[in-house]
Amino acid sequence: MIVSSIKTPSFHLAFYLCGSKVVIFEGMKYIFLCVGVFFAFAKAYSQEISPQTAIVDVQKINAHLQLDFEDQVITGKVSVDFIMKEAAKEVFLDAHSVALSSISDEGGIAITATEDKVIFTGNFKKDKEYQASFTYKVHPKQTAYFVNNQDKHQFWTQGQGKYTSHWLPSLDDMNDKIEFDISVDHSSEMTAISNGLIETVEKDNGITTSTFDMQHPISSYLVALVVGDYEVNEEVATSGVPLSYYYYPEDADKVASTYRYSKQIFDFLENKIGVPFPFKTYKQVPVKDFLYAGMENAGCTIFSDRFMIDEIGFTDQNYVNVNAHELAHQWFGDLITETKSDHHWLHEGFATYYALLAEREIFGNDYFYFKLFETAEQLRELSDQGKGQRLVAAGGSSLTYYQKGAWALHILRETVGEETFDKAVRSYLMKYAYKNVTTDHFMDEVASFTSVDLTEFSKNWLYQGAFQAEDAVNSLKKNEFMQNYFQIQSGRSVTLSAKFTQLMKAIETENDYLGQEAVYQLSEESISGVLPAYKKAMATKNLYTRQAIATSLETIPKELELDFYDLLNDDSYITQEQALIKLWVYHQQRNDVKSQRNLLDLKENAFGFADGNIKTLWLTLSLATPDYKPEASLKRYKGLIEYTAPKYPYQLRQNAFRYLEQLQSFEKESLKNLVEASVHHVWRFRESARKQLDRQLKNTEYVSTIRGMKNIFSEKEMAYLKRIEVF
Ligand SMILES: [Zn+2]
Repeated sequence: MIVSSIKTPSFHLAFYLCGSKVVIFEGMKYIFLCVGVFFAFAKAYSQEISPQTAIVDVQKINAHLQLDFEDQVITGKVSVDFIMKEAAKEVFLDAHSVALSSISDEGGIAITATEDKVIFTGNFKKDKEYQASFTYKVHPKQTAYFVNNQDKHQFWTQGQGKYTSHWLPSLDDMNDKIEFDISVDHSSEMTAISNGLIETVEKDNGITTSTFDMQHPISSYLVALVVGDYEVNEEVATSGVPLSYYYYPEDADKVASTYRYSKQIFDFLENKIGVPFPFKTYKQVPVKDFLYAGMENAGCTIFSDRFMIDEIGFTDQNYVNVNAHELAHQWFGDLITETKSDHHWLHEGFATYYALLAEREIFGNDYFYFKLFETAEQLRELSDQGKGQRLVAAGGSSLTYYQKGAWALHILRETVGEETFDKAVRSYLMKYAYKNVTTDHFMDEVASFTSVDLTEFSKNWLYQGAFQAEDAVNSLKKNEFMQNYFQIQSGRSVTLSAKFTQLMKAIETENDYLGQEAVYQLSEESISGVLPAYKKAMATKNLYTRQAIATSLETIPKELELDFYDLLNDDSYITQEQALIKLWVYHQQRNDVKSQRNLLDLKENAFGFADGNIKTLWLTLSLATPDYKPEASLKRYKGLIEYTAPKYPYQLRQNAFRYLEQLQSFEKESLKNLVEASVHHVWRFRESARKQLDRQLKNTEYVSTIRGMKNIFSEKEMAYLKRIEVF
């Protein structure tokens, strides 16, 4: 699974007066939140080996499913094959709140369901193979999600941290790897995507049955099913593995920019890891309102559709890192799987590090070292506060499993040498293929390939809470680019006159990171002394240097007004958004309404990222600008309200809600949508909607509006409104 990684310069909150109302524009702050950490995985995902794995080995689960989009119910016919390791009277599958029907009792097996299990009772003998089948119905409370996408249905699953047994009877224990073969009936207008090769598609009365053949055993959290409106582009990896890139028909023009470098990443990882891709086929599927950035289901990665980006979106929110991370997991996590969450870094540390190696192929060494540097800074900060965590332990944070894990591998690779490291990793993967592993399995494998004593490494990097910042800095200092960077960074504590020449040189390099750092230092100085440096930075072609100006300068100096108009057309939606808002405020402070109107005209048709960062800002500014095309102002207001509807991605809705709050202009429709958002399946969105609803309910008029809509709320919405005492 992955959080995210997007270039994010810093920005300070700015408060601006807008007419008589105070409007708070958070600019970059929002971008941070929008792409930041949004999962609470480690907590929800600690599990121990169930004693049942000592008694039975489940071989195969075959499920034929029907989805009822209206009632959000799944009906399935399941057959399960298992071999007894010991004689027993009872064997179970995990299954939450399922209702059973049409049970076959062949072989004298009785089948019953409890709140969280399906139980097979019989006289099971050691070493004997059994098969049982049953039909079930479930209305999943989690793990399987029915969402609407622009009024079209979509269904997707997320097993890790949520447990597949909420929609498909299976075993939550990662230690029993099972061959899952899924088939599903669906409308022929829709596409079904699951793990494995698609075997047959039969058409009958507008219904298609898609059958998938997995061929390899996997832990149940890696089972995936998506049904929706999709098209697909196919490519073949150099090794012959078919690669499928799914997309919504309306996103056809975003496919090239979204999936850029996919084959290069695949070829690189397969080659670098030295073990063939573990499954027959590799699919990538965007879904709406996904819980995380991406999830490495076996041979079938699901990712958030906010990564479906156009050419400009690529600059700040591309899919490359998530793409490489989930692919790396196909070996580290899917082929070999931790025995329990204490060893979770064997998944996330490896996926993070190998993604970084793949990105180095694409974005170069500076990118690679700068990313390592950034994470070292975060780890050091936490460690300095006494909050450093051991890598090998349950319940770690994502920073520990992902970033500290990646750092441990980087240091280990430098300690034993790249060639030895690669050999050991390959041998470890082959030895434990389709099995479960611990940290010792990996370290023993490395030890068998080297004469270097790894005791110190293990102690410092695997079993110690404190982050080894000195080791990390010494490692980074070996790189020439990092030496330059540290040199410029050390200027932060120096007077302007002492560093001015150095900053000018840094800007001239046109290097993403050196230029940015120089610009951030300029923003700490009084403008008169640094204007020539800003002019130089504006004259560069470097998008990130220019973006650093747009985000770090809180007010535009007169001398840079025209340059900011140039920034409106940079190939970065972050830069464009920042330039738009800051120019609007610039004119506001001069009571120059005419220039505000002209400015708005320039961005009338811009939308921005999938979250509509520019469109929602533009609508808001247009409503706050006196007499801006008054004949269309109602339409623009309705447009903003429209974006709060459930059919839009939650990130876009969140923007629309935020701006409506600043305009203090909620009404019936947006309040109804805000209530819906308060029970949304994405935790982050739900929490922010709940807080906002609380604030709006201080307005008695809004309370009456909501009470007046009593009959249109769903059961879930009503339950929440009762809980917060609206009813
Ligand atoms: Zn991951």
